[in-house]
Amino acid sequence: MAEKQKVLITVKTYPLPSEKYLELVCTAGMLEDGSFIRLYPVDYRYQPIWRWYKKYQWIEVEVEKHDKDPRKESYRPKVETIQVLGKPLDTANCWAARKAIVLKQQPTSMETLRELQERDGTSLGLVKPREVTDLIIEPDSEEWKLKWKADIEQLRLFGPDRKPLEKVPFKFRYRFTCEDERCRGHTMMIEDWEVGELYLKELKRCGNPKAAAESVREKFLGELCGPGKDTHFYVGTVLRYPKSWIVLGVFWPPKVGTPKGKTDVKEPSLSLFET
Ligand SMILES: [Zn+2]
Repeated sequence: MAEKQKVLITVKTYPLPSEKYLELVCTAGMLEDGSFIRLYPVDYRYQPIWRWYKKYQWIEVEVEKHDKDPRKESYRPKVETIQVLGKPLDTANCWAARKAIVLKQQPTSMETLRELQERDGTSLGLVKPREVTDLIIEPDSEEWKLKWKADIEQLRLFGPDRKPLEKVPFKFRYRFTCEDERCRGHTMMIEDWEVGELYLKELKRCGNPKAAAESVREKFLGELCGPGKDTHFYVGTVLRYPKSWIVLGVFWPPKVGTPKGKTDVKEPSLSLFET
């Protein structure tokens, strides 16, 4: 049965091609009580522009418990009911408005999340790394896999107009440890839409794939995980591989107590989702 939910969007993954839905974006966010909800699937870019939501923007949407996705937090949104409410929460006062919701979720460790997953099917969480030691760049195929390519081609010929969806020819992984005595370190794939967008933007600017990938590293490691940041990762499982956890996004307010002049109240916006 459908129910209306108010969701603060915190996560959007890079789109994947799909025969049935044109493309799939995994969106997740939090309810007013700070609990996680996953909205899946959303063919985001194929929705009219007034339904386009940004990160840290509240939306209202009718959802139903997902019948084919057993993950605890997964709901199927009725995309035609999406209503965007107001502007995204800003970053004033060290992200106070965002923290008021996001940090209702007690940050935890990967070890605890895996335990919760065993116990009650938890598949989303907020992890506070003790240390982010690296961002690893690995070459990946330059093309979507054959099955998807065939689907894209098929739809190009017979279906609705297809928006270009570029394949990012690199994989990006965070290497980090968490605040947990059981922690032996993690290397986890980053699927944040902003990683793909930043790569493509940088590629367009400099024309050099390796340099563009390095720019992603600089931003997502040097800046988002820099010493002045109180970095957290939004993490979640992959539907087809439930044991695989990935990084879905980064929550990176300035550390409170950072000397004046070093805070990022006016951080440079990634502004990737501006319409
Ligand atoms: Zn750990």
